[in-house]
Amino acid sequence: MTSHDLNLIAATDLTSIPAEPFRARHLIDGEWHDSADGATFERHSPAHGMLVSRSAKGGEAEVNAAIAAARKTFDSGVWSRISGKARATIMLKVADLIERDVERMAILETLESGKPISQSRGEVGGAADLWRYAASLARTLHGDSHNTLGEDMLGVVLKEPIGVVSIITPWNFPFWILSQKLPFALAAGCTCVIKRSEMTSATTVMMGELLIEAGLPAGVVNIVLGYGQPVGSLMTTHKHVDMVTFTGSTAVGKTITSLASGTLKKVALELGGKNPQVIFPDADLESAADAVTFGVYFNVGQCCNSSSRIIVHEDIAEDFVSRVVELSRDVAFGDPLDPETQVGAIVTPEHQGKIDTYVRQAVEDGAEIRLGGGPLAVPGLEGQFYQPTVISGVTSDMAIARDEVFGPVLSVLTFKTMEEAIALANDATYGLSAGVWSENIHTCLGFARLAQAGTVWTNTWMDGFPEMTFGGMKQSGQGREIGPYGLEEFLEVKTVAMRIGRSRTPWVRKR
Ligand code: NAD
Repeated sequence: MTSHDLNLIAATDLTSIPAEPFRARHLIDGEWHDSADGATFERHSPAHGMLVSRSAKGGEAEVNAAIAAARKTFDSGVWSRISGKARATIMLKVADLIERDVERMAILETLESGKPISQSRGEVGGAADLWRYAASLARTLHGDSHNTLGEDMLGVVLKEPIGVVSIITPWNFPFWILSQKLPFALAAGCTCVIKRSEMTSATTVMMGELLIEAGLPAGVVNIVLGYGQPVGSLMTTHKHVDMVTFTGSTAVGKTITSLASGTLKKVALELGGKNPQVIFPDADLESAADAVTFGVYFNVGQCCNSSSRIIVHEDIAEDFVSRVVELSRDVAFGDPLDPETQVGAIVTPEHQGKIDTYVRQAVEDGAEIRLGGGPLAVPGLEGQFYQPTVISGVTSDMAIARDEVFGPVLSVLTFKTMEEAIALANDATYGLSAGVWSENIHTCLGFARLAQAGTVWTNTWMDGFPEMTFGGMKQSGQGREIGPYGLEEFLEVKTVAMRIGRSRTPWVRKR
């Protein structure tokens, strides 16, 4: 395939980007710190190659100091015991500040991650709504009362913040995923230590600046920059941490579960996916083809919700694949800084190699490449890009059908009956999301009820709302984020049984 076959956006003018690399430091107990040993690490733009940020590289000293600050602050009650109204007031201010700073943060998000600027603007700006929704939960949070236990008994079930929470995030939606967790933890009254991916430090540090400006007390939110080892793993094992909430790969999620078992702290996990969209012959094929194209190329497929495999009825498979191939040629791949670009760069050269290995293996396994299937050269850019890739003739035993490829690569499988479609959709170790396309409500509801997935979309893909909870079944995770369930994760439940008057029958029989 030549670049003429695709909608390529060449390098844009770089004058709008910051002249100096962003300097990221740890936030500990309300103060910005370099590392005690002076260590730093750098992030270069995956699309442009230039140095974007230089971050302090945390170690044991920084993790211990951050956890001590979070513990002391939690126990002091300056956040954990104030009113929901007081918490909400600060959180609403944070939302306003996020909206004020969208442009500044979006540019850094794009330069560090390689995602298109239009998407970064949407993610950062949209995160303000998560903060506003979580602020509303801070004010409506309540437990239960039991007034039917007998005349002399009253019971209440209190909901309390769980305590100190370690928040560990990935690189693919850095600001959004932070905002799926942090405001909900804060609404509950928790204090936090955050470690974001070593590849995308900047916007979490910017978030720290906004929290200070909004008036959040020192020590409520602490940030330690650095790598999984030692920072993430110490945040998982430390005895003063009560909960770890992690978003990332299933492999690291399993490590975290076993590391956390030493102290039996609560673990919430948002992990990988191999998400199917099932297309029935009576579907609106134009909409379905557009949604499949969106689902596989959004964030260059580096998305937990990537619809990386489709299961199409065999009567329409050829027509449908042709539609997706044609649409794929029109998707704008290229410089993430150009507002017209829809698909940007692959996060690292190593990851690009991994995607390509899966594609080569699929061909060896007998699948057929219908479009793409290799690296993409974007004029004027030295970073790594991958072609939009469609592979048909995939069977469910192939690695490309089972593993999370995390690239712009669509696998096409076919089915004959509803039972076969459901069996294929559920034939996965993952269970994050699934979709069904049909004009028949019975088909959609039947599929929705049997799909083993935390989210099912019918006649749409990847619509999400702060009100609607999100999370995975099977090896896609445990626990839920956003919505009322997202708040519950950060709460401990305490039963208080109260006797009214002196009606209790003495246990000791007087002699
Ligand atoms: P990753 O698992 O490599 O890293 C995630 C985070 O864990 C990073 O901050 C990393 O530094 C840290 N980490 C690494 N080793 C650790 C250890 N031993 N202890 C503690 N922390 C450690 O994932 P990634 O490559 O950054 O992100 C991509 C993955 O995230 C994909 O699998 C994707 O599906 C998943 N993801 C899931 C969701 C979801 O909501 N389910 C959302 C986004 C991404």
